[in-house]
Amino acid sequence: MSTIFSKIIDGDIPGHIVYDDAETVAFLDAKPINPGHTLVVPRGEYENIFEIPEDTFLAVMKTVHKLSPIIKEAVGADGINIGNNNGSAAGQEVFHYHVHIMPRFQGDGYDHWSGDENYHDEEHAENISKKIKTLLSD
Ligand code: 5GP
Repeated sequence: MSTIFSKIIDGDIPGHIVYDDAETVAFLDAKPINPGHTLVVPRGEYENIFEIPEDTFLAVMKTVHKLSPIIKEAVGADGINIGNNNGSAAGQEVFHYHVHIMPRFQGDGYDHWSGDENYHDEEHAENISKKIKTLLSD
């Protein structure tokens, strides 16, 4: 059973494809946060960052890098957010790896997440950085 994004890539359901190459395809998001909101996906079906091989991930990022300034110019945006949700807890809804290119306009009303400095107190920061470094060295 192929993903909804594979169906767009294969032309089985309509989609506004703006770019494709051997490894990646980019098409407009069906529910854009702003005009020009684009999704970049690998042709291969990998659920998320935990599944996608490094070379495929790099191919996706190369396409994101190529398209971001073009999309910014195409819609006259003031900035661009690059986003990628991994896992339903992180807001992922389609389980075929994808990166959002989201044009932003001055005063468009979207806020950044606010963050919580308490997670950066000495104890938290020390424990977490130790844990990450230990896992990296395993
Ligand atoms: P996620 O939350 O998984 O990162 O985002 C999935 C994105 O895919 C959403 O922004 C949603 O609007 C978009 N999307 C879902 N179904 C379709 C579809 O059938 N066509 C297109 N073009 N975009 C879709």
